[in-house]
Amino acid sequence: MILKVDSCVCNPDEIIKDANIRINSSLLKNGDVKFDCSNTIAYPPFINSHDHLISNWYPKADFGKTYSNVNVWVENMKQTDSFLERNKIWINDSTFNLTEKDANQIVLLGIYKNLFSGCAVVQDHIPKQKHSYYNNNPINILENYTQYHSLSLGNWWGGDNTEEFEKTKDSIPFIIHLGEGIDNLAEQEFPKLKELNLLKSNTLLIHGIALTKEQIKECAEAGTSICWCPNSNYFLIGKTLDIDSCLKYGVNVILGTDSTMSGSINLLEELKFAHQKFPHIPMQQIFKMITTNAAKALKLPKEYGTINENTYNLLLVKKHDEDPFRNLLKINIEDIELLLHKGIPIYGDVKFLHEFKINEDGYYFFGEDRFVIGHPEKITDSINKKLGYKKDFPFLPF
Ligand SMILES: [Zn+2]
Repeated sequence: MILKVDSCVCNPDEIIKDANIRINSSLLKNGDVKFDCSNTIAYPPFINSHDHLISNWYPKADFGKTYSNVNVWVENMKQTDSFLERNKIWINDSTFNLTEKDANQIVLLGIYKNLFSGCAVVQDHIPKQKHSYYNNNPINILENYTQYHSLSLGNWWGGDNTEEFEKTKDSIPFIIHLGEGIDNLAEQEFPKLKELNLLKSNTLLIHGIALTKEQIKECAEAGTSICWCPNSNYFLIGKTLDIDSCLKYGVNVILGTDSTMSGSINLLEELKFAHQKFPHIPMQQIFKMITTNAAKALKLPKEYGTINENTYNLLLVKKHDEDPFRNLLKINIEDIELLLHKGIPIYGDVKFLHEFKINEDGYYFFGEDRFVIGHPEKITDSINKKLGYKKDFPFLPF
């Protein structure tokens, strides 16, 4: 299948106007069919670098105030209506086995949150799960990484920080929340990280609100990546990472939503939020954070974060702005025409789906002409049944 598009953003530094994109998929009925998509823009699917899939409940766990350290919120949020409502579906028993049925329904909600916003990859910060948890999902849930929750809260999920780092053998990311606050406790985390010899090129720091300019410079020098979650940071702490210093010193910055209990409803909203708070940052720079920078930090295979000539990962989106990077600020869930992952159509307009040899039973059809892989409607049906009323999630388009 060949798609004639207005522009193809092959990577953040290369845009081809009036491009022809060849789709690589073993499921195509007819390899040569041409689609005139001249009012659309092709991007590599996005990468959400920080989420907690099991916590994508709605609305936010809100107290109408901010905290000097996230650790206080982590305890307080357990009393919110939102958290208690989620617990009617699944309660965290200390085993934290998220492949178990009830837990997995909520995890799937989180997966669909990401899928419907054009993401083909998400980093889910949780205790490592069984191999099956990472397999057979429509999008890529990063499996190859090690983690530590944070140096101030420890790893309530088990595992010592230096042991977790050693397991990376310097080749997969070591992911840790750091400096999620503005108090002394948050400020102490970076010196402690250095003392433990964990400031490395495969270390990925989440948040970094408490980092000073000098510490940010040290991250850049060490090649350490930082994941920026501005919406969650302003909501919880009232302040975010010193993003201007990160860009000035050349830190590999990536973007994440965090869960909907504290962050944006999805990555599209996070892009808009980042731009609204920091309008001087070029959208091209922000686009790097969800594509090439993220692929580098998460050590993803080379087919993520860019589009090549014969692509099997693709995000096709309606054009609302001549500038493909500014276009990102104008798109919503329903503007996605096609999301293709590993040659499989996973979300979009049915006119594209007709070109693939697929089993329609494996898809859910909704609205006038929309399809999505799998059956997310069965998840919401089951949740509604358990709750006894209809629950709406703003990140689902049906
Ligand atoms: Zn987090």
